[in-house]
Amino acid sequence: MVLVQDSKDAPPRDVVELADVTKVHPGGVRALDGVTVGFGRGSFTAVMGPSGSGKSTLLHCAAGLDRPSSGRVVLAGEDIAGLREPKLTAVRRAHVGFVFQSFNLVDSLSVWDNVLLPQQLAGKRPDRAWAKELLARVGLAGREKSRPGQLSGGQQQRVALARALASRPGVIFGDEPTGALDLSTGREVLALLRRFVDEFGATIVMVTHDPAAAGWADRVVFLADGRVAGELHSPTAEQVSARMMELTK
Ligand code: ADP
Ligand code: MG
Repeated sequence: MVLVQDSKDAPPRDVVELADVTKVHPGGVRALDGVTVGFGRGSFTAVMGPSGSGKSTLLHCAAGLDRPSSGRVVLAGEDIAGLREPKLTAVRRAHVGFVFQSFNLVDSLSVWDNVLLPQQLAGKRPDRAWAKELLARVGLAGREKSRPGQLSGGQQQRVALARALASRPGVIFGDEPTGALDLSTGREVLALLRRFVDEFGATIVMVTHDPAAAGWADRVVFLADGRVAGELHSPTAEQVSARMMELTK
């Protein structure tokens, strides 16, 4: 089973590309200052940097949740930097999955309905067999009728993972997806993200401040003061810690 929506014959390329992106927030804070970075199909990237370095802003601009002040953001082959609502929402729904620190499940809906909700919002016919397989993969077979409030935090985040993958998005963005979980539960979630990349060819971009979490990624992109401040490939947690120490000096 493959996640990507394009033809299998398409040449490998970045699913998301930012070119010279700046973002000046209301109030004049320059959160991104000329960021150029791409995220390749089937890759797992961690974005790290000191607090306030622009990680969340980068994620929001890359995901079409926010518009850059200048520069290009190409998502699934389309420049979304200049798009306005509701077109931006349509592109986002078609191509992007999200995992948040706070799970963001709908408490009044069952696990099953939560997983299918993004496809329904996008006007797609839900792929129920795939949703069922995903719930089994994250260890929640049989919990379809439960409400989020009846599950532990780790279980809720695993529902959110199944939801993020259910529409086979081109890319999944996570903003501190393990930030609210204890160590061992966080590791389970990271192991699932890793497997989604390795087994299904998912593309994942994850903001984290945890070097151990970044160690699960193929690549770490470091931000400092709204600029790309280097990269590590096949990082170890130790290498990531050392780089973070340098950046926060
Ligand atoms: P990080 O996620 O790395 O902590 P952010 O992208 O959240 O960094 O923030 C980068 C800078 O932009 C910070 O100085 C922050 O205060 C500012 N900022 C972020 N979002 C907004 C906003 N909506 N309005 C005004 N300033 C913002
Ligand atoms: Mg942030």
